[in-house]
Amino acid sequence: MTIAHILGFPRIGAQRELKWALESYWRGKSEREGLLETARALRERHWRLQQAAGLDQVPVGDFSLYDQVLDHSALFGTVPPRFAHPQGAEVDLDTYFRMARGRAPTGKPAAACELTKWFDTNYHYLVPEFHRDQSFALSSQTLFAQVEEAKALGLNPRPVLIGPLTYLWLGKTKGKPFDRLELLDDLLAVYAEVLKRLRAQGVEWVQMDEPILVLDLPNDWRRAFELAYPQLAGDRPRLLLTTYFGELADNLQLACHLPVEGLHIDAVRAPQQLERVADWLGGHKVLSAGIIDGRNLWRTDLESLLDRLEPLYDRLGKRLWLGSSCSLLHVPVDLAPESDLDPELRSWLAFAVQKLSELNILKRALTEGRSAVAEALGSSRTTVATRRNSARTRRAEIRAAMSAVTESMSRRQSPYSQRAALQQAALGLPLLPTTTIGSFPQTPEIRAARHALKTGALSSEAYQGQMRAKIKEVVERQEALGLDVLVHGEPERSDMVEYFAELLEGFAVTRNGWVQSYGSRCVKPPILFGDVARRGSMTVDWITYAQSLTQRPMKGMLTGPVTMLQWSFVRDDQPRSATCLQLALALRDEVLELERAGIRVIQIDEPAFREGLPLRRADWDGYLDWAVRCFRIASSGVEDQTQIHTHMCYSEFNDILPAIAALDADVITIETARSNMELLDGFAEFNYPNAIGPGVYDIHSPNVPEVEQMVELLKKAAERIPPERLWVNPDCGLKTRQWPEVEPALRNLVTAAQRLRAAL
Ligand code: GLN
Ligand code: ZN
Repeated sequence: MTIAHILGFPRIGAQRELKWALESYWRGKSEREGLLETARALRERHWRLQQAAGLDQVPVGDFSLYDQVLDHSALFGTVPPRFAHPQGAEVDLDTYFRMARGRAPTGKPAAACELTKWFDTNYHYLVPEFHRDQSFALSSQTLFAQVEEAKALGLNPRPVLIGPLTYLWLGKTKGKPFDRLELLDDLLAVYAEVLKRLRAQGVEWVQMDEPILVLDLPNDWRRAFELAYPQLAGDRPRLLLTTYFGELADNLQLACHLPVEGLHIDAVRAPQQLERVADWLGGHKVLSAGIIDGRNLWRTDLESLLDRLEPLYDRLGKRLWLGSSCSLLHVPVDLAPESDLDPELRSWLAFAVQKLSELNILKRALTEGRSAVAEALGSSRTTVATRRNSARTRRAEIRAAMSAVTESMSRRQSPYSQRAALQQAALGLPLLPTTTIGSFPQTPEIRAARHALKTGALSSEAYQGQMRAKIKEVVERQEALGLDVLVHGEPERSDMVEYFAELLEGFAVTRNGWVQSYGSRCVKPPILFGDVARRGSMTVDWITYAQSLTQRPMKGMLTGPVTMLQWSFVRDDQPRSATCLQLALALRDEVLELERAGIRVIQIDEPAFREGLPLRRADWDGYLDWAVRCFRIASSGVEDQTQIHTHMCYSEFNDILPAIAALDADVITIETARSNMELLDGFAEFNYPNAIGPGVYDIHSPNVPEVEQMVELLKKAAERIPPERLWVNPDCGLKTRQWPEVEPALRNLVTAAQRLRAAL
């Protein structure tokens, strides 16, 4: 029979139960058993939801206490030496957490493994560390135990494994450099053992995730696929090789020819590959079509999808499976409790739970005929039509503004060198000016006030008053510290994206639409459903109030168009570039209003600029083109005297430096404290023309940086970038830090700048 299934379910829980259980365990407030019971109950609930929705298999191993890649490192015994784990022994819970966070209720603290982004999502995984004489050994029973758990509930478990090539690809070598592929044979032996065990447990199918098949793969990695999979033949369950997040493209034939029993493809991101894969797939293999979007939350247009699927079903029959495009990890759990959403908008949405029933409807329509699900199809049809025709997604004035965009709107009046002179004359800043990235500690007091405002316990006036008091306090602190360009501290912002989403037309925010970012950390991306329009000023009152308290320049603080786009669930009825342009136009108006109100320095944050890069190189230019243009449209309306800053908090720039330069921000502040300024080599070689503030204070650490340390970093920076174009600042915003660390750290930062100024 045609199988309907998902590649994975969000594990955090509709009420973030896992988050609370984890944090309480980490704080030593609850026992291991309590945490494990919460986890077990979540797995059961999520499997039962899939069963109730009529899905035929349940993924097992998609659940994780922290991260699925870390689970594999535990499974294979890839534990870095600093955790002093005896080779081959079971990786216990606290070793696991120490790898994730550096510390756990028991065991010696050690540096946590590195976190990095999972493909082009906002999910972060823990990077496996491989050393030269690495060996692997089966070191966790968790997966097998969960298979038993599912069986005991009467379900058909399909264990999820990250495939051997993807696992190696995601890792990093440590110590003497070597080729990770040298580890493949040893690793395959453990995979074979795992598969054999699963077979013995009666498992029919295993999901083998190899998402790197949608990337530009070097030839030796492609060859490694051909060598590896035959080695997994023998006594094992059937394998469903799963790919997602993009098109197989040049890896299509490779993927189709591997000796596995089924292939899953992403038919949402890359619908065009559906028929081609069907053509290339051998006559006995299963084709699992990932047709329900695991990356976004719009209801599916079921009827047009069926138009596509029916001919395929006629050809393949039960060899056609229906699945989610990728794991549902990347969407929130359940729409049902979102009663605050506008009913019409709500009718357009499907969160994870709702996606399960979409799969079921599609399966029934294929196997029993459309008439069997006529009602559901009718409702889908209505939804599609109301969304397409809705007045709330299109605004004439916004469409007009988009077509009125001219070339000159994305150009500053004069080139940087002229602007810099005018800005210097207007601002009168010292050499190596000091500033911060925007936010100051979000104290419990601030959060309590915002909570009280939401529940109605605090009036809007009282809230404004409290936030103003906070602003006054941070302005005074910054003046006392001697910083040159001040910020208002962002106390009024819950989140840099949500704050603006709440004020702009075209966005909705959910109450509980949480998505796991890493470990127990979740984000709540807003929903960008319609044309974006600015109702009125969003930041001007706060910033002008802050400016009124000081003679020094106050930096206006905005979230850039690309980051607003990247960190939201975005409408899929027009290109992302068009949506980004709308955001840019709205922000442009805000920038101009700030300027009119006398603000002379304006920062437009773009921390998500790089993560928007497509997975395939061939698509980079297209993206960079419109992303740069949107930033420029947002920032270029101002006079030459007004100084535009941008901020990005990561350190890989070398491959996109031309685009970074093309943003033409007067000042860019970036993260560098941990990379010892080496990252500036790229900027220097490229002759990056504008000013740079390389972070000299690693805000991710509670340590207070010493003056000497920062002076050294600045000296290194000054060897690469002329001092007239250097700024002095931390790596990123300070909202997660506490005043007792922030105050001395900034005092040292100012002193470091002063020392170097005197020396130059
Ligand atoms: N202005 C923001 C802050 O300081 C920037 C945050 C970020 O880069 N992620 O918090
Ligand atoms: Zn940052």
